[in-house]
Amino acid sequence: MPQLTVTLVDHTPSTSDHFKAAILREFEDMLVDILFTRQDTTTVSMRWVSQSPQQADQDLVIHWVENIDASYIKEKTGQSPTAGDGGFTHTFNGQRGSEVYRHRADHARFPPLVFAKLFAHEAIHNMTRKGNEIHGQKGLAESPPQLPITAHDKTLVQAALNNLPDQIL
Ligand SMILES: [Zn+2]
Repeated sequence: MPQLTVTLVDHTPSTSDHFKAAILREFEDMLVDILFTRQDTTTVSMRWVSQSPQQADQDLVIHWVENIDASYIKEKTGQSPTAGDGGFTHTFNGQRGSEVYRHRADHARFPPLVFAKLFAHEAIHNMTRKGNEIHGQKGLAESPPQLPITAHDKTLVQAALNNLPDQIL
């Protein structure tokens, strides 16, 4: 039975455990759904940490960052995110790095489900190594991401599952 181990790294000063747990539950449900096939069940194992994990410990790492100005991926790669976006994924030295922002420029407040969709969207960019060409076909691959999950989402991610990129920790 295939397994996907996902680590979410909290770089924010004060996101509550309750809020993080709610994001994790919603995101986990999305990943299980995306990875489900009639032939096989992929087990998804997820956790939050507050310090970067070891490379071998997980398949997918997504950073949770206060805002674009505090971009962790920019700190690691020099590449700036696009202003106004809810998340960012970039490749540097053969490693794929993804992050999602707690606050947008307008300081709008969002519920956990909105962030879970952003985590799922950046996860698709990350696992597939694909850019904006995944947009435009609805589902979680759309920008902004939306439910329900589509066959397009499932095809993209399931095809990538056996060849996931190294992660920016
Ligand atoms: Zn996108």
